[in-house]
Amino acid sequence: MVKLYEVLKGAKRAGIAGHVRPDGDCTGSCLALYQYIGLYFPEVAVDVYLEEIPNSFHMLTGADEICHGLPENMVYDVFFALDCGDVGRLGFAGTLFEKAKKTVCIDHHVSNESFADVNQIVPDASSTSELIYNLMDKEKITKEVAEALYLGIVHDTGVFQYSSTKPSTMEAGAELLRKGIDGPKIIEKTFFEKTYAQNQVLGKALLESIRLMDGKVIFSYITKKSMSFFGVKAKDLEGIVSQLRVTAGVEVAIFLYELESGEFKVSLRSKEKVDVSKVARYFGGGGHVRAAGLTFRGTVYDAVNNLMNQISLQLEDGA
Ligand code: 5GP
Ligand code: MN
Repeated sequence: MVKLYEVLKGAKRAGIAGHVRPDGDCTGSCLALYQYIGLYFPEVAVDVYLEEIPNSFHMLTGADEICHGLPENMVYDVFFALDCGDVGRLGFAGTLFEKAKKTVCIDHHVSNESFADVNQIVPDASSTSELIYNLMDKEKITKEVAEALYLGIVHDTGVFQYSSTKPSTMEAGAELLRKGIDGPKIIEKTFFEKTYAQNQVLGKALLESIRLMDGKVIFSYITKKSMSFFGVKAKDLEGIVSQLRVTAGVEVAIFLYELESGEFKVSLRSKEKVDVSKVARYFGGGGHVRAAGLTFRGTVYDAVNNLMNQISLQLEDGA
C-alpha cells in the first residue's frame, strides 16, 4: 500500500489531478488528499488540478482553490493521478504528470494500465475515496476532509447501493460520520438535488429519445442542440443513465450526449450479466464492470448498432 510519508519524503512540491469531467469520487478524493497534505505535510506546497466541477461540489473545502489551467514552467516532485485509468484521461493536467519527478496513481478502474511510478490499483474497491481514506491516519481526518471522502464514496456507490459496497465501505462511512459531517445534506445536495433544467432534460431523455431494444438494453441520447435549448452542460446530465438503468428487465443502459466536436460521449451501466468495461474498452474507453464510458465518432445510429453488437455477444454468452 502507498504510504504518504514515503512518497512525499523530500518533496517540496506536490500536484494532484483526477479524470476529465470530474465526478463525485474524483473530486472528493482529490480534495481530501489536497487538504490532508496541506494540513500534515507543511514542508510540501500542494496544488490540485481539475476541470470544472458540478456547482453542488463547491460545498467542499478547497473547491475554490482548484487550478483549472496550467502553470508556467512547473515541475512537481510528486504528482498524484487519482481515480484515473490512463494518462489521456487526466486531460490538461497530463503534461504536469508527465514532467513530474515521481508519479503516483491511486485508482479502482479495472481498465487501469498502472501508468505511474507507484501504483495502487484496487479494481474491487468501492471508490478511489475509500482508497484515499485507507491511506490516512484516522485520527488526523478532519471534518472537512471527511466531507470530501464521504461525498466521493456516496457518489461511486450510488449511496452505498452498488455491489462494490463492502463492509469496509460502510465502516469507512461510519468513521467519516463520526467526524461530525452532515451526511444526509451531502447526499441530498450533491447526489439527489437537480435543477429545474436538469429535470427537464431528464424528462426529454426519458420520453422522446428513449428506445428499448430486445427488452434487455435501453438507450437514450441528448444532442448539443437540446443541451443549449435547456441551458445545460455535460456535467448536468449525470444521473440520466442511472434512471434508464432502473427500468425493470433491462440489463444494460446506454446514454449518449453530443460533444462540441460532434462526437458522442457514451455512458454504460449494467445490472448483472454484462461487463460494460469490456464493451467500453473495445471502443477505446474504459471504466468498471457495472459502469463504464467511451467517446464515439459517428452518428447515434452507428453508436447504438455497434454497441448493441458487443453487448449482444455477452448477453448471448450468458443466456
Ligand atoms: P460515466 O458514464 O459516469 O461518464 O463514467 C463511468 C465510468 O467509466 C467512470 O468510472 C469513468 O471514469 C469511466 N469512463 C467514462 N468515460 C471513459 C472514457 O472515455 N475512457 C475511460 N478510460 N474511462 C471512461
Ligand atoms: Mn471512482
